[in-house]
Amino acid sequence: MSRVFNFSAGPAMLPEAVIKKASDEMLDWNGEGMSVMEMSHRGKAFMSIASKAEADLRMLMSIPDNYKVLFLQGGASSQFAAIPLNLLGDKTTADYVNTGMWSKKAIAEAKRYCDVNVVTTSEDSGFTTIPEFSSWNLNPDAAYVHYTPNETIGGVEFDYIPDTGDVPLIADMSSTILSRPIDVSKFGMIYAGAQKNVGPAGLTLVIIREDLIGNASQSTPAMLNYKTHADNDSMYNTPPTYSWYLAGLVFDWVLGKGGLEGIGKINKDKSDKLYAAIDSSDFYANPVEMRYRSWMNVPFTLKSADLDAAFLEQAAKKGLATLKGHRSVGGMRASIYNAMPEEGVDTLVEFMKEFAQANA
Ligand SMILES: *Cc1c(COP(=O)(O)O)cnc(C)c1O
Repeated sequence: MSRVFNFSAGPAMLPEAVIKKASDEMLDWNGEGMSVMEMSHRGKAFMSIASKAEADLRMLMSIPDNYKVLFLQGGASSQFAAIPLNLLGDKTTADYVNTGMWSKKAIAEAKRYCDVNVVTTSEDSGFTTIPEFSSWNLNPDAAYVHYTPNETIGGVEFDYIPDTGDVPLIADMSSTILSRPIDVSKFGMIYAGAQKNVGPAGLTLVIIREDLIGNASQSTPAMLNYKTHADNDSMYNTPPTYSWYLAGLVFDWVLGKGGLEGIGKINKDKSDKLYAAIDSSDFYANPVEMRYRSWMNVPFTLKSADLDAAFLEQAAKKGLATLKGHRSVGGMRASIYNAMPEEGVDTLVEFMKEFAQANA
């Protein structure tokens, strides 16, 4: 058996070393005589796994002490509702930045609970850029500002953190968390589904400033209330134990790569190489404004869409899997999260050159 380079947008590749360690520990974790999957979440063994994972994440991201880290279920999509339910307080309106498909989903869900002020949108451009910050129509009375630092489908990524003053900034970091250093203190809350850069599906991370907890509206389900989970160390009910454990192994792995500084340099190199391959040929194209090109998700088109099927078939033969683009964008998309080895990107770049030559 040989493993492929999997360019899937999510669930995505995990580091091989992590899967091997999980495999070694599958039947018997640390002499407990059972798999992590079979452990009580309240037992000593799992508690040690859980607290080490949190401590390592705090170290990796330099999370300040006045932030809680929650290990939840329900995916990033559940947060689209939890955010207005928890953070509106006495207010009735919230600001949303629209830079792509995931922004739109967050906006649609928030509209059930509040007046959504779309402060800016790049929809006219087909979501290929981010409108100048100075042009945003921010409301100083908004309960919070929500944005998507990396749009997984469009491949558009912020290269700065918007300064929203006293209005809490909320970020859906599902596809960019842990990919580079980030100043957590600039945010009211950061959340992310795990299945792109953190671990297996089933786990959702919420990193939230403590003063934003405890103001949920009366009708908020207990399971969507951050206070419920903060008061119970994410063990109000059964948390996604195995995903939590695997995320812990991934945090360890990232620390071994030199933390977010180290992994950030590798990610920059990988994405630079891939964009260089696209830009240096008139066979391939990426529509995103240079400055906002994603380090994690790289959509690209071929000279003719008629060649897409052949490209995918021949790529698969080289062990380059899941390159088909999102249906809304077409073409290809290479998701190159932390776990994609540099060798995977090199192999893709080499294949792209060969394919372009053969089909010029
Ligand atoms: C994948 C993704 C989501 C959806 O995550 P789920 O965990 O499937 O709910 C939301 N936002 C972004 C930016 C994503 O990439």
